[in-house]
Amino acid sequence: MRVFKFGGASVKDAEGVKNLLKVLQETGHEDTLLVISAMGKTTNAMENVVNAYFEDKNQVNSALQEVIGYHQPILEALFESPQHPIFERVKALFEEVKGFLLWNKSPKHSFVYDQVVGYGELVSTTIVSAYLDEVGLKNQWLDIRELIKTDSSYRDAHINWERTQEAVQQLIDTKKLNITQGFLGSDDNNFTTTLGREGSDYTAAILAYCLNASSVTIWKDVPGVLNADPRNFKETRLLNEISYREAIELAFYGASVIHPKTLQPLQRKEIPLQVRSFMNPTQQGTTVGKGVGISPEIPCFIVKKNQVLIKLSSLDFSFIVENNISEIFKLLHDHRMKVDLIQNSAISFSVCLDNRFGGLQGLLQELKKKFKVVCHEDVSLYTIRHFDEKAVESLQNGYTVLVEQRGKETLQLVVK
Ligand code: ADP
Ligand code: ASP
Ligand code: MG
Repeated sequence: MRVFKFGGASVKDAEGVKNLLKVLQETGHEDTLLVISAMGKTTNAMENVVNAYFEDKNQVNSALQEVIGYHQPILEALFESPQHPIFERVKALFEEVKGFLLWNKSPKHSFVYDQVVGYGELVSTTIVSAYLDEVGLKNQWLDIRELIKTDSSYRDAHINWERTQEAVQQLIDTKKLNITQGFLGSDDNNFTTTLGREGSDYTAAILAYCLNASSVTIWKDVPGVLNADPRNFKETRLLNEISYREAIELAFYGASVIHPKTLQPLQRKEIPLQVRSFMNPTQQGTTVGKGVGISPEIPCFIVKKNQVLIKLSSLDFSFIVENNISEIFKLLHDHRMKVDLIQNSAISFSVCLDNRFGGLQGLLQELKKKFKVVCHEDVSLYTIRHFDEKAVESLQNGYTVLVEQRGKETLQLVVK
């Protein structure tokens, strides 16, 4: 069985859904499992619904109406008859969201978030499944929440591999064309959980692992993995082949073309990962496998914007030693900060962070009780894998470098 993952960009409009059909026609659709994300930027729009719910309940309806209004023309373009049952099915899904928000008693943001945002995926897969049925590609729609079992770390759930494996083996008929949602799972109480933003690639990998799939293909709006994000760099080149290890490193440092958790399950079973263009489905793209490190061997650039740099030093001229460092890490963990880079010297400790869950102010308050704290918000973290001096120079121009860290293969700069 093959696993195909279609991201939000690939199904952002009716043309995208029709193109998905074309990709299946050109590359075959037997024994295939499709993992599909929410359409376009729907997850952001669903996040707005959650924010409205917590900040100003009067705005909930209009925030939800945005999402409904976005899907309506897509439905109308894909299904000629207004009597087609898909219209009622999609409406019913949005009614579920409204019902949940009306009856919910939990004040927990992350819990509510997970119960709400996943409707983007439920709606998109319901639409794609009905469309493929309509044009004669019979398929099986699966609720991923019955397959992927997780703990209850809402917004960042961890997989229960045993239970997931069991469910996947029981519930997926590998002879069919199957369609399911990325990004979602469910916990022991069957509440919806999510695997972290952009987590659909990871879903594809989890399913591939449990199915012993022959390959995973993620269909993107780029020709494959490039040596830099074309949104930030003018000249980019396609990487034809990269090893799992190299891909893990690139994704870990922030190459957002692949979700960082995707690669390890695939590596474990040596399942190749293809990254290919949904616009040119017959082009080779990038193959991630157990072979060579990276081909062609060129510097790769990764940038993470909107990061936070915190520099800590002691209040009493003492050194920063093990017990301080363990205390700092405990605080980082407690405030759900994602650590990008650390650097320490005798009297100071710098850490570059992703304030993804908004814990920064709480963290700073705690740190200030114990340390002298300097905080730079809105810094960028540049990473160059396989750097050479020319590559480094190209970055240093025009920025103030706040931290530099050089390893054998990787150079990182925190810049303002
Ligand atoms: P999806 O539709 O699957 O969610 P994403 O938008 O998450 O797709 O990922 C595709 C985008 O990743 C590209 O449009 C590109 O801007 C960005 N990207 C970042 N780093 C790279 C890279 N090294 N190679 C290719 N694309 C990259
Ligand atoms: N729809 C989710 C997101 O936008 C998951 C994904 O697309 O991978 O984060
Ligand atoms: Mg995405």
